[in-house]
Amino acid sequence: MYRDYCTQCRYPINTCVCHAIEPVHITTNVYIFQHPKEKRHAKSTVRLLHLLSANIKVINAKDKESVDLLLSQLNTEDTAIIYPNPNSVALDIKSNSTVENDIKNLLVIDGSWSQAYSIFNQNQNFNKFKSYHFDSPPKQKFIIRKAKRAEQLSTLEAVAYSLKNIEGLDERPFLFLFDEMQKHWLNHIK
Ligand SMILES: [Zn+2]
Repeated sequence: MYRDYCTQCRYPINTCVCHAIEPVHITTNVYIFQHPKEKRHAKSTVRLLHLLSANIKVINAKDKESVDLLLSQLNTEDTAIIYPNPNSVALDIKSNSTVENDIKNLLVIDGSWSQAYSIFNQNQNFNKFKSYHFDSPPKQKFIIRKAKRAEQLSTLEAVAYSLKNIEGLDERPFLFLFDEMQKHWLNHIK
C-alpha cells in the first residue's frame, strides 16, 4: 500500500508527530553517541530529539574518527558523561534545583547496557571526562519497550532529566514528544 511520509518526522502523514515538536532553548551541548543498531531500531527515542534543539547532536558511536575528533575538542573541566560506574557521581544531588556545576557539554550513550559498556570501554577518551549517574531518577515512562532494569531511563528521558538537573530545563516538551511517539508505536508497530 502506498503511503505518504512526513518529510520532517518521517512517520506516515496520518500519524505524523510534528505537532508534538515544541523547540526548547537549551544552553548545554548534548552529544548522543548512538550504537548503529539503535539507529535502525523502530522504537528509537533519539530519532526526533534533534528537532527539539540544534544543540542536540547524534553521533555514530562506531565512527571512531568522528568520535575521536569530537572528544579531543571537548574540555574535561566542563564536559560530563552519563555513565554509571563505581567512580561516577550523582547528577541529581538536589532534586528540583539545578546542581551547581560548570557543565557545558553533556555526553550520553544510546544503546543497551552491553552496547553502552562496549562503546565506553572501546574508547579510552571517554574516560577523560567526569562520569555521572542518577540517584533518584523519575519512574521511566517507556511503556512499550521495557528497560532491562527498572531504573534505566530511555535515552530521551535521560537527556531530559540531565538537562533538568544541569540547567533547570522544563522537561515537559521532551516528555510530550515521547508520549506522542509511543502512541504512534502502539498504533502502528507490531
Ligand atoms: Zn511529521
